[in-house]
Amino acid sequence: MTKTTKSIDSIISLCKRRGFIFPGSEIYGGLANTWDYGPLGVELKNNIKQLWWKRFVQDRDDMVGFDSALLMNTKVYEASGHLKEFSDPLVECKKCHERFREDQEEKNGSCSKDKKPHDFTEAKQFNLMLKTFLGPVEDDKNIVYFRPETAQGIFVNFKNIIDTARKKLPFGVGQIGDAFRNEITPGNFIFRTREFEQMEIEYFIPEPTKDSDWQGHFEAWRGEMQDWIKSLGIKDDEFEQVEIPDGERAHYSKKTIDFEYKYPFGQKELYGLAYRTNFDLKNHGLDYTDTEGNKYIPHVIEPSMGVGRSVLAVLLSAYNEEETEGDTRVVLKLPNSLAPVKIAVFPLMKNKPTLVAAALEIYHELKKRWACEFDDNGNVGKRYRRQDEIGTPYCITIDFDTLENADVTVRDRDTMKQERIKITELQDYFNNKL
Ligand code: ATP
Repeated sequence: MTKTTKSIDSIISLCKRRGFIFPGSEIYGGLANTWDYGPLGVELKNNIKQLWWKRFVQDRDDMVGFDSALLMNTKVYEASGHLKEFSDPLVECKKCHERFREDQEEKNGSCSKDKKPHDFTEAKQFNLMLKTFLGPVEDDKNIVYFRPETAQGIFVNFKNIIDTARKKLPFGVGQIGDAFRNEITPGNFIFRTREFEQMEIEYFIPEPTKDSDWQGHFEAWRGEMQDWIKSLGIKDDEFEQVEIPDGERAHYSKKTIDFEYKYPFGQKELYGLAYRTNFDLKNHGLDYTDTEGNKYIPHVIEPSMGVGRSVLAVLLSAYNEEETEGDTRVVLKLPNSLAPVKIAVFPLMKNKPTLVAAALEIYHELKKRWACEFDDNGNVGKRYRRQDEIGTPYCITIDFDTLENADVTVRDRDTMKQERIKITELQDYFNNKL
């Protein structure tokens, strides 16, 4: 039987216990809302990024990749409107001086001073750009901003890309990289952090002459995003698409659809899809000349996806607690493509050199092709529990029969069914499964 209640605490605790994600700067008392990815977390995160890159950049003829610098000339953000407009409404409680985003329900808690509702100031716009000084002199001339989105690096390189990539419109540019926002209220584990990674696409289309010209591309990307979300093992009933009304969209967007995931702390944005019009290229003074010599400013459809929010949604969707033989097992039912370890190899007993040697041989052979883990700690039941918790789809046990018959037990994570497979057939077996 599978229990459906998933709490964020059970995910945080699993992440810490098994080495997916740790609190940042932990031995020095931490640094609020920073998180470090452990040995398994970095594998999971890299799997997501690599699948994204393959799907959206390498497998498509109308896409190229990009990787721009994190720090850019401040003029970029003057032109893009971020220095003026990239802000959230901030309110401060007059009693406890805690600050909140006016548009988020977190502000509805009680005041730490008198346990009554907060008494807020009028909202004022708080700019989210995180700044630092470049060089040894901390003066205003040396202020630079960390990018709040990877997008601008693509826009300001539009001409370089057009001149070198031999692409005609419509075509897109994909980029994966860090972004920074001085969020007023970070929190909910890795959901909202001030440093995060994005996977973004800027898809350039010819100047639309009627709405259906851009709407077709918008809808196509909407479908692509939906398929991608499902490929992460997220089910249809775990997310919703919500159109953002006028007045609530980012300053550059004419239409935005948010893909919202049903997190344990509420339904909130996982990804966004925006029609940025020609806002950015126009402001940067960039244009395009097509093969017929027509000159115009391309418009842009932007699918934007957070890496951390993907990791969190993937973990939540995969997490299950199941009753088995009077016991509860925690199992991450990750899609095979995302699992940090694909196959775990166990010798039945640690102190039998012939078993260990046979297990190591199989392990080294499979490891050439798939991410494998060798484990001879504790009993086999405990090893299965660990592999279930980290989402390993298959475990192989080498026992005394292996030495006699040259076969092994392969155990399936989800069904817990075991079957005997000949050692010589293992490669084919996993070729089909993984
Ligand atoms: P929110 O409304 O939650 O603040 P947003 O609308 O400002 O998000 P976008 O500007 O659309 O977010 O950013 C694109 C994507 O980047 C988001 O869909 C999300 O996946 C990710 N993202 C944005 N801000 C953060 C953050 N502070 N922490 C983690 N991921 C983020």
